[in-house]
Amino acid sequence: MTDETDLIVVGGGPAGVEAALAASERGLSVRLVDEAPQAGGQVYRAPPRAFGAKSQQKADRLGVALRDRLCASTVQTHFDHIVWSVSPGYRIDALGPNGAVSWRARAVIAATGAQERVVPFPGWTLPGVTGLAGATIMLKSQGMLPGGLTLVAGQGPLLLAVAMGILKAGGKLAAVVDLASQAEWLADWPAIASRPDLAWRGLSWQMALRRAGVPMLYRHAIREAEAKGDQLLVTLGPVDAGGAPIAGPEREFLVDAVTVGNGLTAATDITRLLRAGHRFEALRGGWVPERDEDFRTTLSGLYVAGDGAGIAGAAAAAIDGRLAALAVAHDLGRLSDETYQRLTMPLRRKARKAKRFGTAMAKLMALRPAQVAAIAAGTIVCRCEDVTRGEICAAVREGARGVNQVKAWTRCGMGPCQGRICGDIIGQLVTGTGNARVEAGYFTGRTPFRPLPLDELAPPIAYGDLQLPPPAPL
Ligand SMILES: Cc1cc2nc3c(=O)[nH]c(=O)nc-3n(C[C@H](O)[C@H](O)[C@H](O)COP(=O)(O)OP(=O)(O)OC[C@H]3O[C@@H](n4cnc5c(N)ncnc54)[C@H](O)[C@@H]3O)c2cc1C
Repeated sequence: MTDETDLIVVGGGPAGVEAALAASERGLSVRLVDEAPQAGGQVYRAPPRAFGAKSQQKADRLGVALRDRLCASTVQTHFDHIVWSVSPGYRIDALGPNGAVSWRARAVIAATGAQERVVPFPGWTLPGVTGLAGATIMLKSQGMLPGGLTLVAGQGPLLLAVAMGILKAGGKLAAVVDLASQAEWLADWPAIASRPDLAWRGLSWQMALRRAGVPMLYRHAIREAEAKGDQLLVTLGPVDAGGAPIAGPEREFLVDAVTVGNGLTAATDITRLLRAGHRFEALRGGWVPERDEDFRTTLSGLYVAGDGAGIAGAAAAAIDGRLAALAVAHDLGRLSDETYQRLTMPLRRKARKAKRFGTAMAKLMALRPAQVAAIAAGTIVCRCEDVTRGEICAAVREGARGVNQVKAWTRCGMGPCQGRICGDIIGQLVTGTGNARVEAGYFTGRTPFRPLPLDELAPPIAYGDLQLPPPAPL
């Protein structure tokens, strides 16, 4: 185990990098750990170094600038390191290219971002069906298309981003299928227009898709997908404002690939594991850590920032990161009250503006309970353990009161993803709607956060030296 640092930041997205930079600027010793090969997180994901050519896209330029600032700082970076446990005190355990490592820090900022949510439908686990957020990773990190002719479906800003990404990469689109109506996109126009650059980008994407002749279906969702040889036959139908299927003409598309997503949920592995307080915020991606305005959680020394503290987008995440780092510097006695107030005041103003736009986007991504209520009994909900909606609801009928009891009885959420993908849907299924979600609770945090090869963690075993017990008498 190496020396204790003042701060360890887990996550190298906009929130984590800005937090690490701000803390190091205040003289704190800082480590930044990320499982990705380079900083940037989801939004500024770096293409592999071997790709060489420099992209002219704005997000790529911002990512390069972020990485350059990090390189020029005193932050000690550890990329390609999966953090698999955080213990009180604080000890961070990670697995990197050279094996297992542990570090100690006086404070931790969890800036672990988000994960995507897909509302299950028959056929969502078929080969050729990927998540919308997953598709952004394919496009950004490998310049790879999800498939040939692709149907893009779901809700929120990633819908247009992925559709445009596919068009720009030379792919073909069968249709863009939006759960929201056009009126819903316009309802929050003042908030969206508070970021004219992003509002204009969204409009120009819509125009480009129309010019390319891509059918755009609003208030529609996938009813089912069925394998037809190497292709997928997708049936779509109209839905109401809550996302429930309604009577109306169904349409079929024969496609090579489907990419579908229903928003993002906050990645809370660390705060759940350490038993920090959480609260349910439907418009921030479900269960989020309880925190004050400077991102202190309910546990001393543990802070959160970015989408992991509640979905609000990349601009808000960067400001959150700086605020959280200043709170750490203040709490460790490196900033006087006066300097702390002076430095945080302008950041708080910026944060309010960034959150206005982020909240409008998060609203479009929010889970629609009626869509979940309409999931058919035979549909798989937990894809790691193949648990269906019918099995989950049977457990509730037999008396399971919360998601952890349903997990124990059915194994849903026990697979390699540890409920990151299905947890929010299971919570919704367990209790229905509204405040009842609070009673359903959330999956208790467990280590390891990611599947790990155990031989990397355990010392080598000399089997010949093992003391064997004497054979039991017959
Ligand atoms: C898959 C995905 C794709 C997205 N694509 C886009 C997009 O194209 N455009 C857009 O505007 N928004 C996108 N978003 C939303 C975007 O994540 C946020 O708005 C923004 O990036 C939030 O910044 P952040 O710093 O909070 O988190 P992130 O940028 O998500 O950064 C979190 C970082 O934490 C690291 N991390 C998490 N857990 C661990 C662990 N246990 N060990 C080590 N490292 C860990 C991750 O590798 C990641 O780099 C995407 C979200 C997801 C989930």
